[in-house]
Amino acid sequence: ELILFWHRRDLRITDNIGLAAAFEKSRKIVGVFCLDPNILNGADIAPARVKYLLGCLAELQENYAKIGSQLFILFDEPRQAIARLATALSAQFVYWNLDVEPYSQDRDKAVREALKEQGISVETFWDQLLHFPGEICSNTGNPYTVYTPFWKNWIRQTKAEPLPSLEKAISLTQEEQEQAKNVGVVALPTLKDLGLVWDNPLMLEPGETAARSQLAEFCDRTIYDYDEQRNFPANPGTSLLSAALKFGVIGIRTVWNATLRASEQCRSDETRKGVQTWQQELAWREFYQQALYHFPALATGPYRDNWRDFPWENNEQLFQAWCEGKTGYPIVDAAMRQLNETGWMHNRCRMIVASFLTKDLIINWQWGEQYFMQKLYDGDLAANNGGWQWSASSGMDPKPLRIFNPTTQTQKFDPEGDYIREWVSELRSIETEALISGKILPLERKSCGYPAPIVNHNEQQRRFKALYQQQKALM
Ligand code: FAD
Repeated sequence: ELILFWHRRDLRITDNIGLAAAFEKSRKIVGVFCLDPNILNGADIAPARVKYLLGCLAELQENYAKIGSQLFILFDEPRQAIARLATALSAQFVYWNLDVEPYSQDRDKAVREALKEQGISVETFWDQLLHFPGEICSNTGNPYTVYTPFWKNWIRQTKAEPLPSLEKAISLTQEEQEQAKNVGVVALPTLKDLGLVWDNPLMLEPGETAARSQLAEFCDRTIYDYDEQRNFPANPGTSLLSAALKFGVIGIRTVWNATLRASEQCRSDETRKGVQTWQQELAWREFYQQALYHFPALATGPYRDNWRDFPWENNEQLFQAWCEGKTGYPIVDAAMRQLNETGWMHNRCRMIVASFLTKDLIINWQWGEQYFMQKLYDGDLAANNGGWQWSASSGMDPKPLRIFNPTTQTQKFDPEGDYIREWVSELRSIETEALISGKILPLERKSCGYPAPIVNHNEQQRRFKALYQQQKALM
């Protein structure tokens, strides 16, 4: 029996639930990844993310070759392309791991129907989460909409053993390989072939090998100080595993087990806290994924109704200044330039710039959400949407209104101005005190070519609060 395994965001052969199940059924397995024009031509595409994806696929192809099998690449609408390939190969089954995104669910339904028409059976699995949606519910049986009770329940029930890597597969015959070629299998394209450009290095090398060594290195050292260090964007205090987790080049069970091994090494409350705080981030990832699964409307609008018709001012010029890192607020500009140059931004800074866009510039959070998706190499609908809605106060955060002050954030989290100096080169020679208090003199700004603040934080905060109260009164 031949099984076609459709990879989507599980680009690995180790610790992969669906793939391991397929292998148990039959050793004649062939993989497929479909470059979906609906996604690649969409408004949310980031060249850095596609570069990472292509690198992961290249390694996955090598890994398939090592076990004597193949990963086919298709560049077509999955709805027709998967069924066409499965039919050409006379596959009896197509297996895949499920996803929470509304688009993926609609697409999967269509692919399933197309396969059914051809008499091909489908088997699906949950793989990318330690607890699949619906597994962790509140006492009333409903999905959680508040993180803390979710976390308490989640951590109580979390146990997971990673699955082994695949061993030798049965290779396709020459004839079967020819059949595949006739139905649109293509060579893995380059970024340029796709009409995209990203020349800067990525924060993490693509692929399973790099993700595994990054995890090992993080869990050997950095994880123990994570609770103390994670908020300082100038320090390499976080795992940098977000893109690896987004594309599933590392299995979540492997990651979880690494945290358990790290816990066993802890000799102090501080180090234990470090490991637990990192586990809490993994739970945030799952919290937002289960939220998106149960409330798909999150993808297109605010969770809280009172934000539905919020009178955002949506000034294009201010938005442009924010995108380019030219707001005159050093911490905001440093963060936006880090994003533009690396395709990644530190979490503390994601919160600062999101608060600034929504509460200081009074621009719809969805503009920022989309800009992030167009830049982030770890861009992920559930996490990004969750982060933006949390920052805008339109989402699942028990606090009704959260406003960050860019100056106090800088003083707390970039006290020496190192992060600002790294990304805003024109401010390198400004004294630390002036840099972190935002009190750079107009003349100094002018002489180093740095803009004056585009808005006044205190004034905008008052205006924003007035709009918020007005809106609340209408509800
Ligand atoms: P670590 O601090 O090492 O955390 C470990 C892992 O936990 C991360 O790799 C990630 O998978 C997960 N994680 C951590 N924090 C969060 C969180 N708040 N929500 C969900 N998962 C989390 N994360 C993304 O993966 N993709 C996004 O598109 C994304 N957009 C964001 C937008 C905004 C406005 C905000 C405030 C946060 C966003 N995050 C996003 C969450 C977080 O900023 C990143 O996951 C983190 O900065 C990635 O760096 P790291 O891998 O070193 O994280």
